[in-house]
Amino acid sequence: MLMIRRIAILACLTGALALAAPKKAMIIDGRNNHDWQATTPVLKQILEETGLFTVDVVTAPPDNESLASFSPNFAGYDVIVLNYNDFGPKNAGDWPGKTQLAFEKYVREGGGVVSFHAADNAFPKWVEFNKIIGLGGWAGRNEKDGPYIRWRDGKVVRDDSPGRGGSHGPRHEFVVEIREPNHPITKGLPLKWKHAMDELYDRLRGPAERLTLLGTAFSAIEMKGTGEHEPILFTIEYGKGRVFHTTLGHDVPAMKCVGFIVTMQRGTEWAATGKVTQKIPADFPTADTVSVRP
Ligand code: ZN
Repeated sequence: MLMIRRIAILACLTGALALAAPKKAMIIDGRNNHDWQATTPVLKQILEETGLFTVDVVTAPPDNESLASFSPNFAGYDVIVLNYNDFGPKNAGDWPGKTQLAFEKYVREGGGVVSFHAADNAFPKWVEFNKIIGLGGWAGRNEKDGPYIRWRDGKVVRDDSPGRGGSHGPRHEFVVEIREPNHPITKGLPLKWKHAMDELYDRLRGPAERLTLLGTAFSAIEMKGTGEHEPILFTIEYGKGRVFHTTLGHDVPAMKCVGFIVTMQRGTEWAATGKVTQKIPADFPTADTVSVRP
């Protein structure tokens, strides 16, 4: 009897430990036309404060050094957070072929990916990468890279009209509107919330296969935008892998927005596990009021 009870207690403990075991996240940085030295520590803190993740940072060699030996151990992680693009001063180019293949395999076999802000500027010519991120901008992207994704008359529209891929007007506060309230990432969020001052990406283009549009923001003409509801938060399925794409987070002040923090935390959990266990905090912004943390 005692033995059985001990086994039962052990089983319970093991179960609890398994539930509590943090997921492994890797942030990739080192090259970016944004201040990755400042934003990576903020991303790391945002993920760690959930208690759900351990976070390692993998920093690629700088622009003036070769990427030949750049070979992160993707397979050892549950989710890869991309704070990286090759859009820097020297535009030094793609990851080595075997690293690209390892990344594709990691996602195809069920790995999670988060594309953070300017990560979607990266790798315009890497076909599978663009399928993984769904939409991208700049670096010569145009109609050859895929449609624009717009929200018109209550539904997602694929717009093949010619034009540039990627733009934004001056930074400003804008309202994010949730278009898919039943997805684990967005479930329970206010349907409209005001985001702190940030870039509002517009005119992104890409293959946009198996894309679920979670949130949009209206890109006003008077703010040098498009007059369209532009995709801001979305997911992509690639093989068995899950990708969360946020265009938000140009700089540290934008990342202090509780809307940014919470969607990043929830999106990363979903990419890693397919579920979201976090509650919506009381300081989440409303439709009229921005909410930032110190
Ligand atoms: Zn930016």
